[in-house]
Amino acid sequence: MINYKEIGFKSGLEIHQQLDTHKLYCECPSVLRTDEPLKVVKRKLHFVAGESGEVDEAAKFQAESGKDYFYQTYDTTCLVELDEEPPHEINQDALRIALEIALLMNCRIVPLSQIMRKTIVNGSNTSGFQRTVMIARDGFIETSEGKVGIDSIYLEEDSARPMEKDETKVVYRLDRLGIPLVEISTRPDLKTPSQVKEAALKIGDILRSTRVRRGIGTIRQDLNVSVKGSSRVEIKGFQDPKMMEKCLELEVERQQESLKKGKKNLSEVRNALPDGTTEFLRPMPGAARMYPETDLPLLEISRDFVNEVKKNLPKLRSEIEGELKNHGLSEDMVKMILKEGKLEDYKELYEISGNPQLISKLLITFPKEFGKKSGKSQEEMEKILSKDVLIFVLESVYKEKIQEKDVKIVLEKVLSGVPVKEAVKLEKKDFADVEEKIMNIMKEKPGLSPNAYMGLVMKEFRGAITGEEAMSAIKKFLK
Ligand SMILES: [Zn+2]
Repeated sequence: MINYKEIGFKSGLEIHQQLDTHKLYCECPSVLRTDEPLKVVKRKLHFVAGESGEVDEAAKFQAESGKDYFYQTYDTTCLVELDEEPPHEINQDALRIALEIALLMNCRIVPLSQIMRKTIVNGSNTSGFQRTVMIARDGFIETSEGKVGIDSIYLEEDSARPMEKDETKVVYRLDRLGIPLVEISTRPDLKTPSQVKEAALKIGDILRSTRVRRGIGTIRQDLNVSVKGSSRVEIKGFQDPKMMEKCLELEVERQQESLKKGKKNLSEVRNALPDGTTEFLRPMPGAARMYPETDLPLLEISRDFVNEVKKNLPKLRSEIEGELKNHGLSEDMVKMILKEGKLEDYKELYEISGNPQLISKLLITFPKEFGKKSGKSQEEMEKILSKDVLIFVLESVYKEKIQEKDVKIVLEKVLSGVPVKEAVKLEKKDFADVEEKIMNIMKEKPGLSPNAYMGLVMKEFRGAITGEEAMSAIKKFLK
């Protein structure tokens, strides 16, 4: 068992998360395309040396000047992504989400900020730089092993997606360029691998309670780590915080091995591999060269705006989970409602009926079951079993037009193409076991008169069978 305090373990997290809005400096939607590009634009970028004349080690390593860069454009990209038009005003939606994240992490908001250009040398930005602006600083999150300082929160634009690379060229897709990102950096306060994992999960909880993009590639988690006497190493490419703990344990071992051999490890960037080990990626970059963005005014974040955001801060994901569990839903069901993005629908349906079990069946259980049976995609399923359909079905239960146990039959009819208004009028053929049901009703309450049974049976079938049919069955079983 390693004593992390003794070996001087020190770690900090850096997280990049895409926001679920249109792009940061134009109105193009943030969608990643899988179809053929509209056209491909060729550029040669000039690698300009820094003003100080210093050569950045990372820049040298990556020096790709002389390469041709190709940019794939779409009808969802514009001249801003191509750097042929100045940036538009910063996206207020993205700014609001960044503020929510900052406030949930107890940060101080920066009231007036200069938007900066950060030099990019690999062609992943058509302009040769990335715009970045500090939104907040000096925050903290709580973990079971103590407070972790949040150093800063920046709002940035994502880079273009590399699609193809060889010795002479790189082909980038412009769909990702300009998607708003928040960059969250903690202080190097993390003292054990388990605290790193806990902090990453906590930050993830906060991020997911706001409007962030979900799925693979929408979040990038890097961490810095060092032990006493060794150089700082950056590890990139975590998709899952669960992997961090193991990866850090192995990295500490690696750093200590070289210390034992009397070698000091190099300050470098390493790539996290799925088995928890890491591989060398590139030397540690120097401080990025930054200079002011002259096409945009200073970013002013007014007190009123901050107060308004404060008043409407979203609840933490973990709090919502707790509330849904209090509705009597299982942990798995709660997770699925959140994972499938059904929380808003759930809330709306809950307002109508207050029946969590039935709602979770409507939103999750039945669509899953029907999807498996019919081979329809979730998307098709959601189109047919739309929220309006589900509301109509719920109201039909509420108004006692149908019974809860008939809901599945009604939905199956809707799926087969029957309009929901017709589907709630159940027919005899919907009850394959009419006679068996009548028999059971009579068994449950023995000794009643035929007319009393008639009442019970008609209530059960709600007009799906005639009085005559009911009476003939009752008489059959009374014999
Ligand atoms: Zn655009």
